[in-house]
Amino acid sequence: MSVKNQISIINDEIKDKAELIAVSKTRSIEEIIEAYDQGQKKFGENRVNELAEKYHNLPKDIEWHMIGHLQKNKVKYISEFISLIHSLDRLSLAKEIDKNAKKENRSIDCLIQIKISNDESKYGLNPKLLDSFYIDLKQFENINIVGLMAMATFTKDQNLIDQEFREMESLFKKMKTIYPNFKILSIGMSDDYLLAISNGSNMIRVGSKIFGKRNY
Ligand SMILES: *Cc1c(COP(=O)(O)O)cnc(C)c1O
Repeated sequence: MSVKNQISIINDEIKDKAELIAVSKTRSIEEIIEAYDQGQKKFGENRVNELAEKYHNLPKDIEWHMIGHLQKNKVKYISEFISLIHSLDRLSLAKEIDKNAKKENRSIDCLIQIKISNDESKYGLNPKLLDSFYIDLKQFENINIVGLMAMATFTKDQNLIDQEFREMESLFKKMKTIYPNFKILSIGMSDDYLLAISNGSNMIRVGSKIFGKRNY
């Protein structure tokens, strides 16, 4: 299956219910161009160095999304051009994003990453802390919080994933009724994006289903 075919299959499945972010981590410039030529303009990366390098070497109408854990000292490499940071999960990072956004004379859209899985390694904010975290974020004038992101537990157990996505949907709906800026629920990857959409996701991050299995 070619990149081209995969993108049109996924777009047919999701129709206009969700935005597709093509996760291009570890992929070459040529592979990204193949997707771009198919009309795909939104790409997600999880490493700052790779993201910045691709930004500088690819067409400027691409919208870049930072979907991985973000270190404070690396914010400066993406603050000029990043479209959406999916992984805001702590105040110290917010402070750094805000500072760099000010320098660039812009505001940066961010999603709050929530930890819903039981996996030890997963980053994200404890959902119980969301209300107070959001209130603390209001001091940062150059950050727009536009929604929530989460990664489900790495498992074949669809029931568990469904349950975690449902939790995210109710959290998202609750925030949305209080804060009209909440527009995006970024959940769902290659193996579970349809399940995510049935639980209210309107942004999916899909890598291997488009580009094939990653070797690392
Ligand atoms: C790699 C990655 C994805 C995409 O994973 P696939 O299973 O290849 O679709 C989505 N979200 C994040 C945060 C990732 O790191």
